[in-house]
Amino acid sequence: MKSVFIYTRKFLNFGLPRGYPWSARRTEATYQLCSRLNLLDHPWISIYEPKPTPDRQLYAFHTKEYIRLLKEANQGIPKQEWMQYGLGTSECPVYKGVYDYHRLATGGTLLGADLINDEKADIVFNATGGFHHAGKDFASGFCYINDIVLAITRLLKSYDRVLYIDIDAHHGDQVQEAFYDSDKVMTLSFHESGKTLFPFKTGFEKEMGKGKGKGYCINVPMPAGTGDDQFLWAFQEVFQPLIEAFDPGVVVAVLGADALATDTFSNLRFTN
Ligand SMILES: [Zn+2]
Repeated sequence: MKSVFIYTRKFLNFGLPRGYPWSARRTEATYQLCSRLNLLDHPWISIYEPKPTPDRQLYAFHTKEYIRLLKEANQGIPKQEWMQYGLGTSECPVYKGVYDYHRLATGGTLLGADLINDEKADIVFNATGGFHHAGKDFASGFCYINDIVLAITRLLKSYDRVLYIDIDAHHGDQVQEAFYDSDKVMTLSFHESGKTLFPFKTGFEKEMGKGKGKGYCINVPMPAGTGDDQFLWAFQEVFQPLIEAFDPGVVVAVLGADALATDTFSNLRFTN
């Protein structure tokens, strides 16, 4: 079993706005913690450094117009008309280097997809990934470029079926949307119910896919206050039969940690 940890110190070069809850240190902090615990010190684990994704590769999901605006936003000077693309909000501010930061993050996830496709790795982890709220022509909920949709699209070149599983506290709305009519990608999201948490309008159990994709979209909305026992019960009830029935060639997981009780971004009560 070959495992890869995506790592670069270059994320530290980006100065995100003061008071912005998203931390550019997440890859560094995860790497340092794993190193201290000797988790990376094994012959089957390799470190790979990501490169920024070239513009043209982003068009596999995003519109050229949106990417053009995002490139312009890289200068850090917001424009009022960008608000309709979700750029310049408190969750998706315009700051110097915003495009470069997210291109590098996306580069990590796509490097992972390439390593899996080329059979150079069995498991890949990118701590600065999982931007599941980015739409094809808009930014939303801290997400500007949907690295997940891009990675799944790339994995479909080598695999017939991809299972996407999302245990972030928020519904993986734009990944669901991108593959809603596909029977090649099953999307499974466990999250706090949209009755109490962003993105509010999606992630309900009645959303099950359409056309060929009917039945390939599964949502498990959980009420505020849900803890470990209820989540683990739901996970085992739903996940095991689905993975056996769907038989995916590869699994893509978004492991947002905001469902932890100490995280103020949701009302879920998970522990480590
Ligand atoms: Zn989240």
